[in-house]
Amino acid sequence: MEHSITDEINARRTFAIISHPDAGKTTITEKLLYFGGAIRDAGTVKGRKTGKYATSDWMEIEKQRGISVTSSVMQFDYAGKRINILDTPGHEDFSEDTYRTLMAVDAAVMMIDVARGVEPQTIKLFKVCRMRGIPIFTFINKMDRQGKEPLDLMEELEEVLGIESYAMNWPIGMGKEFLGIYDRFNNRIEQARVEGEDRFLALDEDGGLADTHPMMESSYYEQALEDIMLLNEAGNEFSEERVAKGELTPVFFGSALTNFGVQTFLETFLQFAPSPQSRLTTEEVAIDPQTEEFSGFIFKIQANMNPAHRDRIAFVRVVSGAFNRGMTVTVPRLSRSFKLTQTTQFLADDRETVNEAVAGDIIGLHDTGNYQIGDTVIGGKSSFSFAALPQFTPELFVRVTAKNVMKSKHFHKGILQLVQEGAIQYYRTLHTEEVLLGAVGQLQFEVFEHRMKNEYNVEVQMENIGSKVARWIHNEEDVKESMAGQRAMLVKDRYDKLVFLFENEFAMRWFHDRNPDIELYSLL
Ligand code: GDP
Repeated sequence: MEHSITDEINARRTFAIISHPDAGKTTITEKLLYFGGAIRDAGTVKGRKTGKYATSDWMEIEKQRGISVTSSVMQFDYAGKRINILDTPGHEDFSEDTYRTLMAVDAAVMMIDVARGVEPQTIKLFKVCRMRGIPIFTFINKMDRQGKEPLDLMEELEEVLGIESYAMNWPIGMGKEFLGIYDRFNNRIEQARVEGEDRFLALDEDGGLADTHPMMESSYYEQALEDIMLLNEAGNEFSEERVAKGELTPVFFGSALTNFGVQTFLETFLQFAPSPQSRLTTEEVAIDPQTEEFSGFIFKIQANMNPAHRDRIAFVRVVSGAFNRGMTVTVPRLSRSFKLTQTTQFLADDRETVNEAVAGDIIGLHDTGNYQIGDTVIGGKSSFSFAALPQFTPELFVRVTAKNVMKSKHFHKGILQLVQEGAIQYYRTLHTEEVLLGAVGQLQFEVFEHRMKNEYNVEVQMENIGSKVARWIHNEEDVKESMAGQRAMLVKDRYDKLVFLFENEFAMRWFHDRNPDIELYSLL
């Protein structure tokens, strides 16, 4: 049966999993792909990744460190929905790439380790999602291990992250005594370590087990009932509307490793996660996903999948309409059209040529150096640009030069391309024109150095100038160069905007006391 494009779009669910490293993101991703039939054995995602790109040089860094530097996209079908999971690097040196990936999703799943609770990186990633007002679903993982009290975790969510929560289910015991979850949403108990349909036990209208069962003797069961009563009386009410606005996070308990509660989570998530959402243009016009004309924006550029060809892949989040291979698209920034014959779609890391993708999907465009992060692509006659992707305030800076001055041309070309890709941020000093690079995570510098050598044949020298507090200026015209000094460097960014790089917060306050009229601001 042919599906209309409208139905196709409505069936899309595009999300990312955010977490602190080791919370279990890879493990749950594998389980989700397994349910979708995208992989035969749960537990092969990491291995594949390494094998697949063994030819790619700078991915060496990933292999050596056993971490994922770049995000990838995975697609699978489940229960009539087509699901796109955008992977985000979990390493603590995660870069702006991770943040930008969150601009391309319609919902986020926040994984939390039951023993560790809310961790620093969870907070950073959460904030980006919060800013966008997208729905956030919480999965509290590793219930097969001893962890914090569930009520304490709920309180932590509200206090540390400032988001209200609603427990969709509740654990009955934990660790070795983990008996299962009390599923408030589906009105049943799901037993741990019991397979098949037997694992579900019905509840009666008072909220207790409907039929006699040994679990009734357990103090953990008693405790869970007590907690549920407390939640019913004093907890938040479930509101689909508030979930959609990202004001209330539905919380699920489970264990990714033992595959407990994952399927129930997936099914409930699919019920409440939004279908593709509209996006605003620079003129604040909302482009509806059901608009016939194809449009999208580039949120990520990944280079050198194949070092021999030095190709890049520009990842496009499709915002509206449908994309067909061979289509001609326009990039308003360049006032140029491109016929797109080489496009790729991502299925559990296997690259396949895409024939049709609709709003909500991610496609990869083969790029020979034309595109840049944030570019809009349009399949029709319209001309507009999607609102700019946010730039992130870097915290780390280096001064960079080419080891061999004769290589200056390659040096500048390499920097330009890597900056366009969003791999690193570019700054320069005012008169001496020294090049500074800014990053969110240290690893970005390492990747930069490696790629300059391998792709542009330039060895660079990087001098660490440490962490800085970067601030842009609203009233640039009032800035005098004499305001700058040892503790407050004055530089320009790639758009020629003035930026102060303060040695630390203290130096910034000191500056502010002396120059109260200068209006400083930070980016995201
Ligand atoms: P990521 O860094 O967030 O991708 O985390 P991984 O998925 O790689 O998991 C980190 C570690 O936690 C691995 O050793 C996993 O086997 C383990 N792990 C993941 N989920 C669970 C779980 O539900 N229970 C237990 N006991 N361990 C888990």
